[in-house]
Amino acid sequence: MMTDPMPPAFEDIHPEEPDLDALRGRYAEIVAALSRDATLEEHLATIRRWDELRRDVDTWASWTSLRFHQDTADEGRRQAQERVDALGPTFAELDKRVTHCLLNHPRRPDLEARFGSQAFALWEASNRVFDPSIEELLIEEARLKSAYTSLRSAAAIEFDGETLNLSGLARYGTDANRDVRYRASVAKWAWFEQNAAEFDDLYGKLVDVRTRMARTLGYENYEGMGYDRMHRIDYDREDVETFRAEVRRLIVPLVAELRERQAMTLGIDRVMAWDEGVHDIAGNPKPLGDRAWMVEQAHALFDAVSDELRDFYAMMVELGMLDLDIRPTKAGGGFCTSFPRWGVPFIFANFNGTKHDASVFTHEMGHAFQAWSSRDQPLYDYLWPTLESCEIHSMSLEYLVAPRLDVFFGDRAEDFRRIHLLENLLFLPYGCAVDHFQHLVYANPEASAAERAGFWQDIEAMYLPSRDYGDLPHVGTGRLWQAQHHVYEVPYYYIDYTLAETCALQFWVRSRENFEKAVSDYVALCRRGGSLPFNELAKSAGLRSPFSKGSLQTVVDAARAELGLTSDR
Ligand code: ZN
Repeated sequence: MMTDPMPPAFEDIHPEEPDLDALRGRYAEIVAALSRDATLEEHLATIRRWDELRRDVDTWASWTSLRFHQDTADEGRRQAQERVDALGPTFAELDKRVTHCLLNHPRRPDLEARFGSQAFALWEASNRVFDPSIEELLIEEARLKSAYTSLRSAAAIEFDGETLNLSGLARYGTDANRDVRYRASVAKWAWFEQNAAEFDDLYGKLVDVRTRMARTLGYENYEGMGYDRMHRIDYDREDVETFRAEVRRLIVPLVAELRERQAMTLGIDRVMAWDEGVHDIAGNPKPLGDRAWMVEQAHALFDAVSDELRDFYAMMVELGMLDLDIRPTKAGGGFCTSFPRWGVPFIFANFNGTKHDASVFTHEMGHAFQAWSSRDQPLYDYLWPTLESCEIHSMSLEYLVAPRLDVFFGDRAEDFRRIHLLENLLFLPYGCAVDHFQHLVYANPEASAAERAGFWQDIEAMYLPSRDYGDLPHVGTGRLWQAQHHVYEVPYYYIDYTLAETCALQFWVRSRENFEKAVSDYVALCRRGGSLPFNELAKSAGLRSPFSKGSLQTVVDAARAELGLTSDR
């Protein structure tokens, strides 16, 4: 599909809410046209009409949702957001009528030749995980997920004279003062301990409802359904097991060395759980200016990567597609969304003056650049790839900008780069532990809460053997995962970050060997959007699949050299 030459400025975007009756009528026409005997060209024209509708609906939904996040206290915006939420299932149902028609279409081979098989694989997976017979269970699942979110966000923890929620408390967890971060950890886990019964109970019910959904749909247990829901198209559980084994073989021993080194750096005997997030006795480096200064500096940062990225960033600034300030009624967090009518993305973040701002900025710019680069993909389904692939674009850009991070950090750029690399390596075993745990849970849905805690302790011994919780309450009883919201909200969504990081680290290694080649492979990968499944996307960019044995070896060797660790080979 052709997108408009220049997108409008953000302030000029005001998409109308779709008229549901008119929309139903247009979907009925589309289904009727696809069901008629017609030439391939006529069917393709119908698919284009459907695609334009989907882009328009999504543009309205993204814009409405973004505006709500920008001011959650505005009553009109909140009501509009509620309409988006309420209409979601209707849009999904309408699309399903079309995809059902395309999956069974007499011209399917021609259509697959035209669009590739990925869209058909995605639609098949979506069709497998839904049937009206599980509607009640889906509502129950949504209710339990909201109950988890409410339970967490209701946290009001007394700490040094302040009453804090979990995110407010988190910043004290990496305080340069060891006593402060220890007490912050005690406060956090004491709160989890007070609510232990409810966290156990909610998770038990979620496992039960998901298992019942899966069995109703004909799966043996929730695992297959979970993989389908995550749209895992070209890899399976055995591939993931191979990857986790590689992390245990190569990264777990590296982490043990890094923790010893960290203890020396911090001047302590042993890195305890509350020390893990602190890597520099002087505190972590901070950007040298405020948000407006960073936006200005970033021109030089992206210019150093490529002309395309420079021009893209200049366009984002010119069109007002960045909202990076903290405001009292603005929602927290950071994300990238897009308006598919024009293909232009928008970055939402909350800069707070820490090094995290630089990471969020470049991370979300990676997502944004991919969304823009793939805007002319022929199907709406290809505008974004599946989630493990999405994170390759964001995490890799964090490494591609690394040589010019002096524009944010001055002479502490090197400290930033070292900590960034360290934190990403240290993350890999934890990410795998969260994934492995969920496989055990859903394979043993009848397990009690105590048995599930036992699963986690076994897994911790495999992936996080150097962790020491000391005398912290609750967390040492096998319940760390209760603070990881993905476990409750989006089962199996976590290994994605480790798979993407394995790819991003390869881009890091390759960018130091041949920067221009790495960048051109990166840009080409962004253009492919979601037109291919994960392994094929990785391969197309010259990356080794994380599922192949030895995929992490080159990265580990380069990281050891970079961090000044002696090689044992
Ligand atoms: Zn991301």
